[in-house]
Amino acid sequence: MRLTLKTFQLLSALAFLNLAIAQSDSIKHIQNTPKKVKNVILMIGDGTGLAQWSAAQATIPQKLQVFSLAQYLGLSMTSSSNDYITDSGAGATAFSIGQKTYNGAIGVTKDTHPEFTLSERLHVKGKATGLVSTCGLTHATPASFYAHQPSRKLDKQIANDFYGGFIDVAIGGGLKFFDTAKLRESGHKVYVGHSNLDQINDNHFVSFYDTNEHPPKFLNGRGDFERKASMAAIRNLNQNKNGFFLMIEGSQIDWGGHENDSNYVISEVMDFDSTIAEVINWAKIDGETLVIITADHETGGLSLIGYDKKNNKPAMHFSTGHHSGIPVPVFAYGPGSELFAGVYENTEIHDKILQLLQMSKKD
Ligand code: MG
Ligand code: ZN
Repeated sequence: MRLTLKTFQLLSALAFLNLAIAQSDSIKHIQNTPKKVKNVILMIGDGTGLAQWSAAQATIPQKLQVFSLAQYLGLSMTSSSNDYITDSGAGATAFSIGQKTYNGAIGVTKDTHPEFTLSERLHVKGKATGLVSTCGLTHATPASFYAHQPSRKLDKQIANDFYGGFIDVAIGGGLKFFDTAKLRESGHKVYVGHSNLDQINDNHFVSFYDTNEHPPKFLNGRGDFERKASMAAIRNLNQNKNGFFLMIEGSQIDWGGHENDSNYVISEVMDFDSTIAEVINWAKIDGETLVIITADHETGGLSLIGYDKKNNKPAMHFSTGHHSGIPVPVFAYGPGSELFAGVYENTEIHDKILQLLQMSKKD
């Protein structure tokens, strides 16, 4: 058949029309079927700024897991209500209640009023809730998800807020602040010792690393506790058919920063990164789990000012023993992860999670 100009024009017009229909179809398809988020895992590397990630990256030939697995990247601005430099109480409370509050606050507003945390809101909506921490469970970051206290120093009162609360599964340290009889009364099995995390099969439990206030540093033999604890929490929380919300904290990256100890920082980041790999690989198979990896703030004002070939790590210069005000990366994987691209306040991480679960602050 000879292609006349006229048939050619007609064919092109048809092709264009088809393309346009196909495009509008696919747009409609995307708009009509928002990807469902069933589970949310919020991973907080306490004190982990871009320099901490980059220092760890420079010690290995392959890409960090978080760098290769995350789908979207954003930046979180970390100031608190009363200070450009946040502490971990205000930093975690920004995530848990979606409001800026004062340094030292635990689950309360800047006027010290208790406000519902994400864990509480989601528990009421039928989600199972969990916490995993490589420090004591009454420490500022995990505490901000279940307690409502005017000061992070009130460990006993913080522990008291756990009983009869909304956390189904908690794994970390801090046994000395808890009354195990009260934990059992509130329906939690209590485990002391970290060797049997694989075998726990319970809807409600608290597992303490040992009798010390905090689990040890990774460099001092913590082993695969962070990974095992995270996967034990996920396995048990996932029994709930309505999904779960889990906060996992790499707590001691911050402590390495406070001590200006480069090996402490790098080893804790690497441990956190291998936990991220296990968590995302689980989420990949699950398909309905959003994983967010971020920090409450940067610690140490770290800069990388050269490379130390002898020790196979960057030359790391800490400019402070405290936190800094630089925004921190937010990595996201899974359904809804595109919402975490951009530059925003830390409180918006809370808001985006609620939005993806089709809830508002009034729920
Ligand atoms: Mg912390
Ligand atoms: Zn700190």
